[in-house]
Amino acid sequence: MTAIYLDNNATTLVADEVLAAMTPYYREFYGNPHSAHSLGRKANEGLEQARRSVATLIGCDASEVVFTSCGTEGNALAIRGLLRGTPDRRRIVTTAVEHPSVITLLRALQSEGLIELVVVPVGGDGEIDLDAMRAAIDDTTLLVSVMLAQNETGVIHPVRAIADLAHARGALIHVDAVQAAGKIEISTRDLDADFLTISGHKFHAPKGGGALAIRRGLTLAPLWYGGGQELGLRSGTEAVPSLIGLGAAAELARSHLHTFSEVVALRDRLESSVVSMIDNVSINGAPQPRLGNTANIAFHDTAGDAIVRALDAGGICASAGAACDSGKAEPTATMKAMRKPLNVALGAVRFSLSRYTIADEIDTVVAVLPRIIREMRPLQSATR
Ligand code: PLP
Repeated sequence: MTAIYLDNNATTLVADEVLAAMTPYYREFYGNPHSAHSLGRKANEGLEQARRSVATLIGCDASEVVFTSCGTEGNALAIRGLLRGTPDRRRIVTTAVEHPSVITLLRALQSEGLIELVVVPVGGDGEIDLDAMRAAIDDTTLLVSVMLAQNETGVIHPVRAIADLAHARGALIHVDAVQAAGKIEISTRDLDADFLTISGHKFHAPKGGGALAIRRGLTLAPLWYGGGQELGLRSGTEAVPSLIGLGAAAELARSHLHTFSEVVALRDRLESSVVSMIDNVSINGAPQPRLGNTANIAFHDTAGDAIVRALDAGGICASAGAACDSGKAEPTATMKAMRKPLNVALGAVRFSLSRYTIADEIDTVVAVLPRIIREMRPLQSATR
């Protein structure tokens, strides 16, 4: 049985074209990209082409792209790298719905006494409070770190407006665009972002390749030292095949962006069918602008993780934010930040589609969900 994969915000299938582009770099052009011989030069040419493709996807210059291994690394390089290189300003402003790769890092830096952290709240639909953001950014602010699209709900944040607020006080802005890349148009220039993070495995490249765009003229301190690769910011031999895959996936994503409306139509069909067929459900993040592939559906008074297990038994991969290892389920930080009541937060299930999702798959999910929920709800109320 082939799985129906609706967990594309977690990771994605590697596209055939991406795999085909990568393969020669394992067996033919496997030279170190910094070696002077022909195999090295070939690897280097591939790497630089990939850098140009990434730059085109995110609207910056190739000279501003530093390759990393993943989104977590890009976020850490931007935040830690800036902090190490800039001694005078110490406030960092972020939001209550950031990915753990940002928020846990910032909390750690705060507890080490290295920064003053200000976490801006969001509203009930996950929208950033711009007045609170304005108030949080002062003349001691070094950086504002904000995601472009939220991983659980898909809510798209007004990054350009936040960049303007940051720059007006002399602060810089880091944009975690890991979920947005490949799903919506991104222009680092139009967003006026100083740093912007992406990760290939979220848009059909393999795991192990990501990038941080760094505005020309800005300097970061490296997280570690070595051979000085990637402008000295990321020493270590580049993972050439993964980065070739990142470049190929960036080109593919760009050429498919105009077809993303088909994904949106399937996501809308899933949401409207569920809402019309099942009582007591709501869509987390609606009516905010959201990524077109993400449906975060709250099945009230039902355990989201149990729904995900039941779907999995039927070959459907989705995700619940709330894991219930010890029998005591905890809502995710995002659901808490949105102040969702417990019976709503714990019932959240995220379905995240990709351009490989087909209508039949959505129809299958819509056909099985009502039974799963029906069987679960009386069971749960009986055990209450
Ligand atoms: N930022 C966001 C918004 C994410 O959704 C994720 C992964 O889910 C990351 C960062 C981390 O990316 P990676 O898994 O490539 O480290």
